[in-house]
Amino acid sequence: MFNEKAYSLGANRSVIRELFEYGRKRTAEVGPENVFDFSLGNPSIPAPPQVEAAIREALATMPSLALHGYTTAAGDVAARQAIADDLNARFGTDITPGELFLGCGAAPELVAVLSALAVPGGEVLAVAPYFPEYKPFAESAGLTFRAVPPDVPGFQIRLSELEKMLNVHTQAVMIDSPNNPSGTVYSRETLQALSEILTRKSVEFGHPIYLISDEPYRELVYDGVEVPFVPCIYRDTIVCYSYSKSLSLPGERIGYVYVPRAAADSAQIYAAVLGAARAAGHVCAPSLMQQVIARCASVRPDLEAYDVNRRALYDGLTAMGYEAAKPEGAFYLFVKVPTENEEEFFDRARALDLLLVPGAGFGCPGYFRICYCVSYDTILHSLPRFRTLIEGC
Ligand code: PLP
Repeated sequence: MFNEKAYSLGANRSVIRELFEYGRKRTAEVGPENVFDFSLGNPSIPAPPQVEAAIREALATMPSLALHGYTTAAGDVAARQAIADDLNARFGTDITPGELFLGCGAAPELVAVLSALAVPGGEVLAVAPYFPEYKPFAESAGLTFRAVPPDVPGFQIRLSELEKMLNVHTQAVMIDSPNNPSGTVYSRETLQALSEILTRKSVEFGHPIYLISDEPYRELVYDGVEVPFVPCIYRDTIVCYSYSKSLSLPGERIGYVYVPRAAADSAQIYAAVLGAARAAGHVCAPSLMQQVIARCASVRPDLEAYDVNRRALYDGLTAMGYEAAKPEGAFYLFVKVPTENEEEFFDRARALDLLLVPGAGFGCPGYFRICYCVSYDTILHSLPRFRTLIEGC
């Protein structure tokens, strides 16, 4: 006997993983220059040089046992202080280390936060398009997952729909901005309107509705677009942050949860996050990476390579007749499928070795995601194939 739910999650790979594996197989068959794998959000710019310098410095100066030993479950205080200092300098906050929990990246942090908020009959709303893993994360935490329909074509938030879906069982709303998959950044106006609704509904239902702000792309933003710091707009926000994308460290597994002390029941929520992480087997975030963050919390990525790809892809595709919201952040372009017959479109894309992720998994059928953290050559050489693809529609 075994856990059927766990079996189903393990046996049925995500569409993105399946495409990625297919891409590897095709690469072996026809060569890497003939496969255009836009499936996986694996950063294509190296970690900033300060990261390697921090690793070398930590190795050279710290005793091995201290460097590689367990830390407290919440993480090294120096690392949490460095994060607090960086946030306070940027957003005018007065965050302290006691409000931060160092986790192993956004994915397990989200699971811990959702588990911390799971009450019998509880629901969580995610604003589409959303990161597909939210659904299994929420459901495995014991929450009912519901998707707020997408606000096409601009991909802000359909606030009236969201308001209608809120009910006495709603424990949390999940957002990710800059957004995966649309690249949209939620504007200050959108977030203020969302905050007003959540504040009013929390009073009406007699309990706080938390806003889970999943922010792995916070630093990946172009053209000087503002990414408002959500806790400054809505009091009952819980932030899940990751260095996977901002410092190009996805395999190292490091990030943090921020539970503002002003949030409702903040001490209990913070303890529940620790407890939920503990129950999921969390011991501590990787020690060496905690030392890196203690030294690099204020380091920002050089986004030039992503920006060049973003422009080439957006300009190239829209000139051919594809429709897409111009991405302001992250490293994704979310494009409208230019035909009614989606299935045939994705089959033809695959036959052209263009590996595109269908929008259905993000709660937004009729679109597809292109991940442009690839080489510039890949973008350039893919454009004729995108032309062939749309000409066949
Ligand atoms: N949230 C979003 C929106 C993501 O796109 C990703 C990864 O792609 C994650 C969370 C998980 O990131 P991490 O590597 O930090 O677990």
